[in-house]
Amino acid sequence: MKILICRSVLLLAVFTFILSACSNSLDSPQVQIPDTTLIWETSAVTDKGSKASKGRILIDPGHGFDDPGCTAYDGSFTEAQITEKMAVMLQQELISRGWEAELTHDGKHMPDAALLYASAQQMPLRNDVNVNPQEWVCDNSVFSKYERVLYANACNREKPVTLFLSLHVNSIETSAQTVRGFEIDYYKDHPNAAIAGSFCEILKRALNDTFDQKIRLFADNAEEAFVVTKYTDMPSVLLEMGYASNAKDAALLISSQFQMQLTQSIADAIDNTF
Ligand SMILES: [Zn+2]
Repeated sequence: MKILICRSVLLLAVFTFILSACSNSLDSPQVQIPDTTLIWETSAVTDKGSKASKGRILIDPGHGFDDPGCTAYDGSFTEAQITEKMAVMLQQELISRGWEAELTHDGKHMPDAALLYASAQQMPLRNDVNVNPQEWVCDNSVFSKYERVLYANACNREKPVTLFLSLHVNSIETSAQTVRGFEIDYYKDHPNAAIAGSFCEILKRALNDTFDQKIRLFADNAEEAFVVTKYTDMPSVLLEMGYASNAKDAALLISSQFQMQLTQSIADAIDNTF
């Protein structure tokens, strides 16, 4: 009997221990917290319009995938590396200021060709657009400037985009390595040229307040305009953040202080325009 009771107590203790171990593993915060954090972070970036925002900014990191863009004078970086880094920094800054901010690509994934074809079919006709957007889609490993237009316009139809901002790095032949500074471009005959132009002026002042280098602002005509500023439906601006062919600009482009200051200046200009 004594032995039987001891055995029962022992069995009960073992059973209680197993039950408590199971319940601990289900409630364990070490398992739950990282998962929840990951989901929250992902939805905060991609959730479109679940809460009020100042507006929607679509940031386009120029180049990427099989197109590195230009290369630093000393070969130390590519344009795509800088544009992708700056685009993510700007996106985070704008989200922290209450904007919805999205990227046209993250350097790893590009929009589906079917979505781009659908966008091409819906592209409105404009007097100054004498092209067939259906021929713009190429299902390959380059996210072309034409495909970026189709993607931006698809986003805009889904929910209006306040500003499309394409980030690039300039370069010039070796004989002119002294050329440096910023370049801001928009298309002067775009239906939204007045808004894009105001943003460019405010951006120029914001850059001028912080940086010493020259700032060139161009209101391009139809022949000069970039594809992404010309054919997009929303206000659209292209910013060249410096010259990779110039040693001083190249050093700035990879400096985290410059990257932070530039991010702040662009975000300030967006805050002050829209
Ligand atoms: Zn470029």
